[in-house]
Amino acid sequence: MEASLVKSDGKTATLLLSGFKLSLVNALRRTIINSVNTLAIDDVTVYKNTSYMYDEILAARLGLVPIKTLSALSKSKKEVIFKLKETGPKVVHASDLICEDKDMVPVYPETLIINLKEGETIDLEAKAIFGKGSEHIKFSPAHAFYHFYPVIDIKKGAVKGASKIASLCPVDILEGSGDKLAVKKGRLPECILCKACEDYAGEDVIKISADEDKVIFELESWGQLELKDIIEQAIDTLGKEVKELSDKI
Ligand code: SF4
Repeated sequence: MEASLVKSDGKTATLLLSGFKLSLVNALRRTIINSVNTLAIDDVTVYKNTSYMYDEILAARLGLVPIKTLSALSKSKKEVIFKLKETGPKVVHASDLICEDKDMVPVYPETLIINLKEGETIDLEAKAIFGKGSEHIKFSPAHAFYHFYPVIDIKKGAVKGASKIASLCPVDILEGSGDKLAVKKGRLPECILCKACEDYAGEDVIKISADEDKVIFELESWGQLELKDIIEQAIDTLGKEVKELSDKI
């Protein structure tokens, strides 16, 4: 079994997994989405709200603000309190949430919370706790999915309408000029196996299939945790759950 990093920009990562059982890959995907600890606002005490927005809607909005979660903190803290006190006219953003702990900041400070009109006031305290995606999706740290590794067979020799075929690719990995059709260098793993090219040109020109021994695993973090922390926590949790099951059997 082999795992390698195809590409990463810090927020997203593409991994190539070879020789892994699909059930294990799916278990990893589910564990990432459901069982990794992150911080999210879960309880809001509203002292004053003269805005047009109901308290409940305001609280639901705050719950969906991703908060930077340092994994070490989950061992030392149980909850983190944010304060928000503003009077309009003001556009209130996630960056206006104030926490005593300077490390506890919203991942996207420009997230809009509410647009207060002249004289409108909100004054509230929001408690963030650690939780998992299985309890509420707001705790989920990432979107994770996978697909088989693509295999693209292109007819040798001249291809009629090569540039038209290339233009149909939704992820732009084909290049066609004159009567030559090819996959752009290094872009093969990006093929999403949609078969738009094959449906148009026919199997005798371009044939799309999947190598079922290899899986492309895509991970997109919502920003609370670093990608490395998400994967490490998920593997750790999965290992513990398997051990617990085996002990019980
Ligand atoms: S199968 Fe879809 S994504 Fe893959 S090369 Fe063809 S058009 Fe592009």
